Amino acid sequence: MKTNRIYETDGHIFSFDAVVVDCVGVETGYALALDQTAFFPGGGGQDPDEGELNGEAVIRLFEKDGLIYHVVAQPVPVGETVHGELNEVLRFRRMQQHSGEHVLSGLAHTLFGCENVGFHMSDDFVTVDFDRPLTAGQIASLEQKANEAVYANAAIRCEKPEAAALKTIEYRSKLDLTENVRLVIIEGIDVCACCAPHVRRTGEIGLIKVLSFMNYKGGVRLTVKSGGDALADYAAKGAQTSELIAMLCAKEADIPALVRKLQEEAASLRLALAQEQRLRAAAMVEAVEQTDGNAAVFGEGLSADALRFAVNEGVSRTGGLFAAFTPAEAGYRYCMGSKTVDLSAFAKAFHAALGGRGGGKPNMIQGSVPADRNQIEEFLMK
Ligand SMILES: [Zn+2]
Repeated sequence: MKTNRIYETDGHIFSFDAVVVDCVGVETGYALALDQTAFFPGGGGQDPDEGELNGEAVIRLFEKDGLIYHVVAQPVPVGETVHGELNEVLRFRRMQQHSGEHVLSGLAHTLFGCENVGFHMSDDFVTVDFDRPLTAGQIASLEQKANEAVYANAAIRCEKPEAAALKTIEYRSKLDLTENVRLVIIEGIDVCACCAPHVRRTGEIGLIKVLSFMNYKGGVRLTVKSGGDALADYAAKGAQTSELIAMLCAKEADIPALVRKLQEEAASLRLALAQEQRLRAAAMVEAVEQTDGNAAVFGEGLSADALRFAVNEGVSRTGGLFAAFTPAEAGYRYCMGSKTVDLSAFAKAFHAALGGRGGGKPNMIQGSVPADRNQIEEFLMK
């Protein structure tokens, strides 16, 4: 005996009665096989349905020898009738995503000769992989045609043709099946082998939106949302745009140009700041007298670049090491350089004495030290 799969002929049946034909204990409870079920056990990139049997949550679904088993907490004797209720919202959402993918893949095949070589549906989005690259223009036209197929409200039906009849039908398929093939037929748009539940007409899919695409394994991967998920995505993007409008006091259409202008301004300010810091660092180094020992400069708010610049400028003024410090959250950040002292060894002692950390090369190290200026100077002048 086999379970009659209600979802194969009608994806809109969300509640049903069925007779228990097998009940076995499993790790997480009891697995009930039913004479018929509306629960899709999962497959082909789509997760299993969720819902309840006799008010008990269906923990897991699996197939064995043509039967679909529903794992629940309590056993039900063979021969008894159970009532099943699916999570209708989740199921419909997934049907919108899945039927949307068929429309997109069918049209990509017809328009550009693409084969669908991957399909994955997560709770957040759907990815569709095609075996050849597509340009942004091709993807835009594919999306346009897919939505025209939605406006056409084409019928979607499922069939299991006999082996002989199947040979005469052209259909998309990832597997080389010849028997028991279930075809999902979208009138005038696509024929594809598939085991999952689908909506009845393309109009139910709603918007089909390609969110992004990337080169993938010699082809292209599209990230797609359809129906309610696409609408929710639009709402989220609308909220983000409203926030940007408020932050920038700009019209929606002016946001990209304004952000570009802000980026350019920020870049030129960063450059001016870096130049100013280097000038300041150079002036500090200038004030240091030539010495055979160590020397150090301390400056407020110096960047890592300015510290390095000071050390490079100052290192020839000393016979030992030259260090530049700037205040940090706790203590100081520093850079030191030397032509004579092995700084790897020096840093070890410096960090051990003052609790600092850092690293670099024997002739230049950078780090931080949670000590005050007196402690640092005392150590350096030893
Ligand atoms: Zn499918």
